[in-house]
Amino acid sequence: MELTNINDIKQLLHRHGFRFSKSLGQNFLVASWVPEDIADSADIDGGTGVLEIGPGIGCLTEQLSMRARKVVSIELDNALRPVLAETLGGRENVEIVFGDALKLDIAALVNEKMPDMRRVVCANLPYNVTTPIISKLLECGEFETITVMIQREVARRICAAAGTADYGAFTVFVNWYAQPEMLFDVPAGCFIPQPKVTSSVIRLKRRDTPPVQVKSETVFFRVVRAAFAQRRKTLVNALSAGFGELSKESIEKCIIDSGFDAKIRGEVLSIGDFAKIADAFCTVSE
Ligand code: SAM
Repeated sequence: MELTNINDIKQLLHRHGFRFSKSLGQNFLVASWVPEDIADSADIDGGTGVLEIGPGIGCLTEQLSMRARKVVSIELDNALRPVLAETLGGRENVEIVFGDALKLDIAALVNEKMPDMRRVVCANLPYNVTTPIISKLLECGEFETITVMIQREVARRICAAAGTADYGAFTVFVNWYAQPEMLFDVPAGCFIPQPKVTSSVIRLKRRDTPPVQVKSETVFFRVVRAAFAQRRKTLVNALSAGFGELSKESIEKCIIDSGFDAKIRGEVLSIGDFAKIADAFCTVSE
């Protein structure tokens, strides 16, 4: 059976009485080059432990298993249990864990299942939970690289340069933990059912230390969130709305003392610029 052959997939799913769930973001790959190219891009060698989220019927899992020492794959949909037993049952280095990737303790899981391996993530993510899953994977700090297929729109936000329309709080968040790289696009025709959007594969390379030092990460991220919560406003007004405890005058002073024009907008600021302003905030709120 070929796990990206549309007729084989239809027969397999029919045999198991499986129905696609939109709410679980179930769009399965039906083009063999896609899982091959994703697995080839995922920084895997024979000593690597790979965490996958959402194996579906296992077409990417199969490619990962051919390249890695071990693959642990988390699947939420219990209806895929008999399907995966049939498609991946013979693969000794694959372990499927049934559960919700958003609720499981990922660090504990990979430390238990792949204790002595370098670890990476590789997945075709369910689109409805892309950003919380990426956030969780970055924050847990367990993975050298995270190679994922996601909606092109979110991929562009993650890889955006300061000052562009796609640049936002999530760009800053991801870049705090990792260096992102856009790899390639995958058209909607490569999936069943077809999604409405184009997908992109990105790779996030973990940073050993954050790109800039700040006095307080909490204040830094609060400044970033406030700046983008009202991105059409000037930075002074956006930060005034987000920091009710500070006067507009002291916020303006922080911005000017950090070397910026009082009328600047948050969307043009780099991570380093945000760090300067956040550090100035720490000084006035001390
Ligand atoms: N890897 C397969 C492929 O490329 O054809 C399927 C990818 S499909 C886009 C996403 C998969 O994630 C589905 O199998 C879905 O059931 C699963 N899923 C959805 N939400 C999940 C969650 N919170 N935790 C784990 N798996 C989830």
